[in-house]
Amino acid sequence: MIEIKDLHKSYKMGSNSLHVLKGINFKAEAGELVAIMGSSGSGKSTLLNILGMLDEADEGEYTLDGVPIKDLSETKAAQYRNKFLGFVFQSFNLINYKNAMENVALPLYYQKVSRKERQEKALSYLDKVGLKEWATHLPNELSGGQKQRVAIARAMAAEPKVLLADEPTGALDSKTSYEVMDLIQKINDEGNTILVVTHEEDIAHMCKRIVHLKDGVIVEDKKVEQVRASEYVQ
Ligand code: ADP
Ligand code: MG
Repeated sequence: MIEIKDLHKSYKMGSNSLHVLKGINFKAEAGELVAIMGSSGSGKSTLLNILGMLDEADEGEYTLDGVPIKDLSETKAAQYRNKFLGFVFQSFNLINYKNAMENVALPLYYQKVSRKERQEKALSYLDKVGLKEWATHLPNELSGGQKQRVAIARAMAAEPKVLLADEPTGALDSKTSYEVMDLIQKINDEGNTILVVTHEEDIAHMCKRIVHLKDGVIVEDKKVEQVRASEYVQ
């Protein structure tokens, strides 16, 4: 599903350059649930943004679902991004003046889905994350956990092949974090490929594999016995 070879990325700052990713090799099959760990500044977001086609590497190869992602036109890249990828961020990134349903429906608008179908689909995805009754509420009327569930519903409504989550529980307390991980595990149970950036050990162990980034390279990549988040939520 995802394959990267010898990926490099530097940020230029004036005459200096910061080499953040120094030859990353990584492969994830369809249906995997992978945690990407590493201390702050280790390049986790940089890697996820490149995988999410929000940023480009300086060197290396990236293949997503059999498609080489390189030198794509802006339009093509945007098409692939909409078709293949769903995003979830620490800060939810919901649109404040749109209600939960409208937020979930937004990516479908860009996929040119009709208005009626957008609403139906948005409602059904809100239902899946347990928030159907909250459809007409604005983000500021929702708790952090509810906002993140809306963001997950929004990402999934576009039916991406891969879900990329950058510290999805970073702004949440433990109990709420486990609720969000429970949802992520259920989505993965249905066969979706998911990458979760986190610096929390307990969250990482709710994935099936943990990849450790350090000083711009992967220093460890191991399969783990998955802890089910449902054991911690009632
Ligand atoms: P992480 O997500 O693991 O905390 P990041 O990928 O955000 O790490 O950042 C890795 C390093 O790259 C950090 O030192 C950060 O300051 C730097 N960095 C990230 N984005 C930029 C940017 N747009 N311009 C310059 N430096 C950046
Ligand atoms: Mg980060």
